[in-house]
Amino acid sequence: MTLSPPLNLNADGWLSPARHCPSPHCDDRPADEISLLVVHSISLPPGRFGGPYIDQLFLGTLNPDEDPYFAGIHQLRVSAHCLIRRTGELVQYVPFTKRAWHAGQSCFGGRERCNDFSIGIELEGTDTDEFTDEQYRQLTAVSRLLLAAYPTIIPERIVGHSDIAQGRKTDPGTGFEWGFIEQLGTKSARTKKKKNQTKK
Ligand SMILES: [Zn+2]
Repeated sequence: MTLSPPLNLNADGWLSPARHCPSPHCDDRPADEISLLVVHSISLPPGRFGGPYIDQLFLGTLNPDEDPYFAGIHQLRVSAHCLIRRTGELVQYVPFTKRAWHAGQSCFGGRERCNDFSIGIELEGTDTDEFTDEQYRQLTAVSRLLLAAYPTIIPERIVGHSDIAQGRKTDPGTGFEWGFIEQLGTKSARTKKKKNQTKK
């Protein structure tokens, strides 16, 4: 069994190992606060996985002629800090020290403009499909590291885009299992959750 190398976070807010794809769609955070983790889902075109288009959207290079759907979105200036692809591949567009543009009009605990104080992680997927085991493994690894690096992100402050943009957004969707948060805690909680079904 091969284990993935441990994730590291450098002082500039970049993870490694990860594919770094610096996006121009970011700016300075208004305050030195990172206290919320927002989970999203995205696929481009919707329902299709594996293409280069999410990178291109976040980099501002999406070609509107490649798919009819792109005509309506190619001019958006949006980004997320990270994307976790179906394979578990981790891509980072914006360092955590900067503000990524993922939440839009949003509100958490009475506070608006969640981009100011949050980290946005996209999972490649749709609002109805299930996500892959590789994605949960990577999301768990990234979340563990972020909770350690930014102690004000507690499990209660890990939310979906649909939670902070109610009535406007539905991602990460009905296929997303929030149980991964339990795995961020103690080893005993993790063991308790593990099912031991050996069927012959
Ligand atoms: Zn979203």
